[in-house]
Amino acid sequence: MLPEAFISILRESYPEETVQRLCAALAEEAPVSVRRNPAKISEEAFLAHFGTDAFGAVPWSASDGLYLKRRPSFTRDPLFHSGAYYVQEAASMAVGGLLETAFPEAGSTSLRVLDLCAAPGGKSTLLLSRLNPESLLVANEVMRQRAGILAENLALWGAPNVVVTNNDPADFGRLESYFDLMLVDAPCSGEGMFRKDESAIGEWSPDAVRLCAARQRRILADSWRSLRPGGALIYSTCTFNHYEDEENTEWICRELGGECLSQRHFLPGFDHGEGFYCALIRKGGEAPRKPLKSARSNAPTGSPAAAAQKLLQPGMVLREKTTREGAHLLKAFPAGLCAEMEALEKWLSVRASGTAVATIKGKDLIPEADLAYSTAFNREAFPEVNLDREAALRFLAHEPLVLSAEPKGYLTLCYKGLPLGFVKNLGARCNSLHPLSRRIRMDIFEE
Ligand code: SAM
Repeated sequence: MLPEAFISILRESYPEETVQRLCAALAEEAPVSVRRNPAKISEEAFLAHFGTDAFGAVPWSASDGLYLKRRPSFTRDPLFHSGAYYVQEAASMAVGGLLETAFPEAGSTSLRVLDLCAAPGGKSTLLLSRLNPESLLVANEVMRQRAGILAENLALWGAPNVVVTNNDPADFGRLESYFDLMLVDAPCSGEGMFRKDESAIGEWSPDAVRLCAARQRRILADSWRSLRPGGALIYSTCTFNHYEDEENTEWICRELGGECLSQRHFLPGFDHGEGFYCALIRKGGEAPRKPLKSARSNAPTGSPAAAAQKLLQPGMVLREKTTREGAHLLKAFPAGLCAEMEALEKWLSVRASGTAVATIKGKDLIPEADLAYSTAFNREAFPEVNLDREAALRFLAHEPLVLSAEPKGYLTLCYKGLPLGFVKNLGARCNSLHPLSRRIRMDIFEE
């Protein structure tokens, strides 16, 4: 049952016919959609994977967004665990179009982009797919635990040109005019979640709307300084009311100094997706972004580092980091971004950056699980074994695997040609390098 006050607020913005149609749609099932990782899977292979479950392209994200006829068990799909696609509601995919409107050359130019409220990572993965690999994305999440989930999801997506941070929006004030583009996908009253999540209705109230609208303004004001004059802000919410949407966009333009280039609501009953509002705002003035003072560090030397370099694609450089547990971790960074990615550690609380490659243990080099998913990984480094679905699920569920016919030593296990992780093959058994945190815990064969 939708709250009366919710319907009254809708009536302040929409004609009665729209309100009726929207409310009726909120009682229906939400559509299911997925977005392809173009760095990992072709359109043809993606469509073939979903077969008769595929329902059609998402109109505003046609090359990678796909509706499905039903919600399959994504957890039981090994391809999902390779980072080949992200389960994302369709309307949110419109952010890709706004990026291209703001920066038509985004695919070929080097930009600095901030996703300020990024967890669990839907829009960060989308931005990474549309940005040039020489661009840098800072994906931030203020909640500590959610920042961990964000880092996991971005590692799976596999782009090395990303820094995951765990900062309050106010901390970004330190980076004056550093970003060309800022996405603020703000925490909101969640009206667009009403049909997906019953509890969203219970948590909604006119007071919550007011509190959310005020918090959104605070987040925007706190971080605005980090956007360069002439840069672009994408402001979005998954809510329908004008307080959090149009009125906040007007407030940004008036109080912070911007021009709204476009804004749009996606409404259930009208668009095949969840409720979503997005606005593209150009920050007033024009100035180049201010570069960070780079932190210069040296590449590690010695035989483990030389061996680790062979695990990487050209254009990547290594740096050695000592982890909290005292391990010596080798990480890879795009050569042109390395100094800048390291410099960010001086300003922000960095949770992850670049690609974890390997840990040095004595004379040995142990590959890191995240390397398997990274586009920086040189797939010729280890022999590959393609698993069928059953064996892939067993690997992901940490069940014992015997690959006695395969070469001994490190192997990359793949499903449909995409890496799922590493094992050390001992002949009679395999030692899995797949992290416990990613283990499938549900019954893998119950459909
Ligand atoms: N952009 C994400 C995606 O596409 O997957 C969804 C982001 S969600 C709508 C909003 C995020 O803002 C949540 O992860 C939440 O933890 C975070 N958040 C909550 N309070 C915040 C605050 N005061 N400042 C910044 N972020 C906040």
